[in-house]
Amino acid sequence: MSLNRDDMLRELELLPVWKLREASAAKAQAVDAKAQTQQPEPLMPQNADEVPVAPVPEAVEVPAEVKAEPAVFAENRLEQIRHLDWQALQDCVQGCVACELSATRSQTVFGVGDPHAEWLFVGEAPGVEEDRKGEPFVGQAGKLLDNMLAAIKLKRGHNTYIANIMKCRPPENRDPHRGEVTQCEPFLERQVALMQPKLILALGRVAAQTLLQTDATVAELRGRLHSYNGVPVIVTYHPAYLLRNLTDKAKAWEDLCYARRTMQELQAATQA
Ligand code: SF4
Repeated sequence: MSLNRDDMLRELELLPVWKLREASAAKAQAVDAKAQTQQPEPLMPQNADEVPVAPVPEAVEVPAEVKAEPAVFAENRLEQIRHLDWQALQDCVQGCVACELSATRSQTVFGVGDPHAEWLFVGEAPGVEEDRKGEPFVGQAGKLLDNMLAAIKLKRGHNTYIANIMKCRPPENRDPHRGEVTQCEPFLERQVALMQPKLILALGRVAAQTLLQTDATVAELRGRLHSYNGVPVIVTYHPAYLLRNLTDKAKAWEDLCYARRTMQELQAATQA
């Protein structure tokens, strides 16, 4: 893949920041240290009508008990989720009332893109606009994510899938509670098992800490390869965080380059 450096920097809106960072390395370091203690900002609204949504795989027969009561898994909930096909999983999420977020959501947000994609991008949870539209990463953070994808010659809906750890919006965009994550993460786990992506990009602290079962910060986790149920994982900053911490866009670009190199190695290993 031949990428023009200026084009890539422009896609990430890095050109002015790149110059500022070089001129103010000490300041950037101070911002970095402070940034590790900050929460990702709420997602912001944006028109995403043009975003292509790839069709999900053809559905197979959904068990009668799942159709009748898709969200209530009185017994063996995890085991039942692990046997759902894609369509049944979507139905299950849509009707899920397994945690208190079901009471305040407008709708669930399952994910968007190609279910057979090699790239899986995982964020935290829907925001206000995502809750309204039923799609992850709309608004300004979604626009930046699209630019991040473009920087490595990717496009939403084309060999990419975008999902969140949480399928319902936490009120006031608060962090999801541990119990809520415990209830919801099996859905993503099943998505990953069905998709079998080559590489996962964990976007932000909540996604990274949940996937990797750690309390480490994004700064501590980025720059090396991790694993989630056997799938390689690379950690980078959440686009909403980058909107507030411009100097870290350069680090996100480094992460994207690392992810692109890793994907090329994974693809080459598959073909060998
Ligand atoms: S957040 Fe997840 S576990 Fe909670 S109600 Fe929504 S889909 Fe169910």
